[in-house]
Amino acid sequence: MSVSVFELFSIGIGPSSSHTVGPMRAANLFLAECSKRSLWEKIQRVKVDLYGSLALTGKGHGTDKAVLAGLAGGKPETIDPDTIAELLNDIRKNQRIVFNATHLIAFNEATDLIFHYDQFLEKHANALTFTAFDQAGNMLHTHTFYSIGGGFVLDDINFEQDSLDQTPEVVVPYPFKTAAELMAHCETLGSDIAGVIMENEKTWRSETQVRESLLHIWHVMDQCIDAGCHHPGILPGGLKVKRRAAEQLNKLTDPNTPEIIREDRMNWVNLYALAVNEENAAGGRVVTAPTNGAAGIIPAVLKFYTRFDSNPSEDGIITYLLTAGAIGILFKLGASISAAEVGCQGEVGVACSMAAAGLCAAWGGTVAQVENAAEIGMEHHLGLTCDPIGGLVQVPCIERNAIGSVTAINSAKLAYMGDGTHYVSLDQVIKTMRNTGKDMQSKYKETAQGGLAVSVDKPAC
Ligand code: SF4
Repeated sequence: MSVSVFELFSIGIGPSSSHTVGPMRAANLFLAECSKRSLWEKIQRVKVDLYGSLALTGKGHGTDKAVLAGLAGGKPETIDPDTIAELLNDIRKNQRIVFNATHLIAFNEATDLIFHYDQFLEKHANALTFTAFDQAGNMLHTHTFYSIGGGFVLDDINFEQDSLDQTPEVVVPYPFKTAAELMAHCETLGSDIAGVIMENEKTWRSETQVRESLLHIWHVMDQCIDAGCHHPGILPGGLKVKRRAAEQLNKLTDPNTPEIIREDRMNWVNLYALAVNEENAAGGRVVTAPTNGAAGIIPAVLKFYTRFDSNPSEDGIITYLLTAGAIGILFKLGASISAAEVGCQGEVGVACSMAAAGLCAAWGGTVAQVENAAEIGMEHHLGLTCDPIGGLVQVPCIERNAIGSVTAINSAKLAYMGDGTHYVSLDQVIKTMRNTGKDMQSKYKETAQGGLAVSVDKPAC
């Protein structure tokens, strides 16, 4: 299977790639199928069943809103986050959805959106089924999807080949599934990791388009940092979590704040990560990287590079993103980027590993040093559980991105200061992460039934 870096970095909305972006894409796919089968005139009712983690943390992660907005034709990459509340109000008040923007169907959320809290489907913890009925209640069409993390969606037929794409398999010139294979390509080409990935990306688009698209991704990330830095207030969801980024920006730019605080670059990195994840938690526009829960790390570390490096460049940004994307592909193919499968090590751990490698590469690190940076970034996240309080992507998620960003920078530094030789290989740590995820009790995999989620009292609403 060939994975493009643009599948790891996609523009979407918060708060969750697996629970918001994926379900919205599944709803879009179901709409497209109904259209292809010319069912519009016959459909009178649609029912949606949410299973496993999508049911358990679906309310907190906005799965209900994503499904409704998706059935109304909203797409994660283009929907204006500011319009979603009004759209949902309309659906809930009038108990109907303007299906595909053309066809009115009755939709009673209480009976047509069912949360199966104690039922997991066999293939994946994040499953949802759409079923369309005619006026007499006869089933017209049904389809089950799996939201496997990072906004990726599969179904029963395509689960094994790990792609819902019906077009013939694209063969890239330098295929790889392991870090060892990727590094061998670097050796053959006499290139860094970014060079190999660029050759592969040229299978889908021209080099100019790849560069422009990556710079656009960075632009959206940077806009998200800026938006988060200027939105104070309380996050939605009932935990009453205060947004901190705007206040921290004021402190960091206040001349009365001690210089040692203002000049400390890690304070700025913390700020950037908090800003992105607060935007994400508020349902704003974010770049999934490689998931939404961990969406702050790659932008925060890239902002650190562009702001504090003595000579930042567009080439450096592109090298950073291509290298980070390569590491994300390794984790996706060799383990998982879904917290419902492997816990938070698959979200914050993977993002940290990606950012560490990207930064080391942007600094001009060798292939061995970059591989080492990625390995360090994951090694110290092994076993990290997912236990979001109230099922919301807020606590510990927002702060965890700040910690992960600083760890990524330190991982890049440790690797850059070495000569690339090290004891544990990236492939070994990916395998360990996968096996640790298998051993992890399911309550620590995005169910909000373990850890902090059950140890901390929630405020009464
Ligand atoms: S704890 Fe980690 S994996 Fe779980 S929702 Fe938060 S960021 Fe995502």
